[in-house]
Amino acid sequence: MYRCARCKEPLKPDSITLQCEKCGCRMFYKDRPNVKKVIKAR
Ligand SMILES: [Zn+2]
Repeated sequence: MYRCARCKEPLKPDSITLQCEKCGCRMFYKDRPNVKKVIKAR
């Protein structure tokens, strides 16, 4: 599952265009439901 990098809107799996319906953003990040990983720069 992917989420929009800007508005955090979940991308529909059947979406072909890879574009957020809400804001039109084309940047996404993978959203894993079970693993919540926070990367912190030291
Ligand atoms: Zn968006």
